[in-house]
Amino acid sequence: MNFTDIQDQFNQYVISNYSRFPVCMVRGVGSRLWDTEGREYLDLFPGWGVAGLGHCHPAVADAIAKQAHKLIHVANHYYNEEQGAFSEILATRAGGRKVFFCNSGAEANEAAIKLSRLARQPRYKIITMQHSFHGRTLGAISATGQPEYQAGFTPVVPGFSYARMNDLASVVELVDADTCAIMVEPVQGEGGVVPATPEFLQGLRKLCDDKNLVLVFDEVQTSPCRLGEWFGYQYFGVEPDIITTAKAIAGGMPMAAMLARPDIAAALKPGTHASTFGGHSLGCAAGIAAFKAMEDEKVMDNVKTLGPWLDERLGALVGPERGVKAVRRCGFMVGIDLTFPGSDLVADCRNHGLLINCTHGTVLRMLPALNISKEDLDQGVAILDECLDRAVKRSGSVRLTARQ
Ligand SMILES: *Cc1c(COP(=O)(O)O)cnc(C)c1O
Repeated sequence: MNFTDIQDQFNQYVISNYSRFPVCMVRGVGSRLWDTEGREYLDLFPGWGVAGLGHCHPAVADAIAKQAHKLIHVANHYYNEEQGAFSEILATRAGGRKVFFCNSGAEANEAAIKLSRLARQPRYKIITMQHSFHGRTLGAISATGQPEYQAGFTPVVPGFSYARMNDLASVVELVDADTCAIMVEPVQGEGGVVPATPEFLQGLRKLCDDKNLVLVFDEVQTSPCRLGEWFGYQYFGVEPDIITTAKAIAGGMPMAAMLARPDIAAALKPGTHASTFGGHSLGCAAGIAAFKAMEDEKVMDNVKTLGPWLDERLGALVGPERGVKAVRRCGFMVGIDLTFPGSDLVADCRNHGLLINCTHGTVLRMLPALNISKEDLDQGVAILDECLDRAVKRSGSVRLTARQ
């Protein structure tokens, strides 16, 4: 089928809740993707962070193929070997927290919301941050501190209120006798790559200790290894009670987990929460292979080594000539503030073989594969540099034309 046929098929049969670029991807290897027309792309936003090891990592692909012939899924009222092994891998890297498996970031956050309420009942209120992003289920959009995600779906789940990131006083102000938890992304991703300060997270920890609140870190994007440590909390040196993780934990398979302190996890008794697919053998086998590959390929060292180099390389883009206001980097999460809307720039980059993202209109975003080479990163920045140059010249000429 050629691209137009595929597009027609989508138009006829797929609900159009996504705005899609006119490109159909057919194949991926590492940080490279190819489309139906045979065009090659350097992907610096692989799978919105899902392809943490790049596309189709061979060890993950082999593990999936092998497991698919052995056992794909059994219900959670049986034991399965892969879930046990993967839970040990996650738990031992997350300070002995216990694991509940599900299938997406939003589901992991739903589990955290339910567990926080259950463990602190009858308290039910949860404080999250403005500009946060926690997913798209009704519970998760209720937690998300961006009114545009709730529009059309109100009334949302009651009990959520939104403080300002890195403003402890704004959190303290919202705590009352019904508050059970505080939920925060250590680095806001979708919100524009905005890191928490260590002091803010320490302040939240102390506040939660004082008031017996559950501290939840949404690490769907900041783990595994994204900040150069297994989990983002280790980068910041602050211990949450519950961690949620998803995106890259199983090398591209739909897989997510909530990791909870054992005394809090104990509230989840049989019948309180469940997921039919949660922790299925196929996803866990992929996860086991992905964690082994992250270790074997020393991806955390790669993030730590290339991070400062990336600061220098991207720092050179800052200035009016490129229309770049500022660059924020935390591990392998990069946000670039533009002085102009970035959607045309993202399209131009794509036309020149580079895939990146733009969030909130003017923030370019990159989540490179954790095992990307310096050469690939360098090539990506070079393409971005040229496209920025063109964009600024274009907007300059537009202004000129407007004045004439
Ligand atoms: C992507 C993301 C989610 C939602 O994950 P889904 O798998 O799309 O449900 C939640 N929180 C954060 C921080 C994310 O980056």
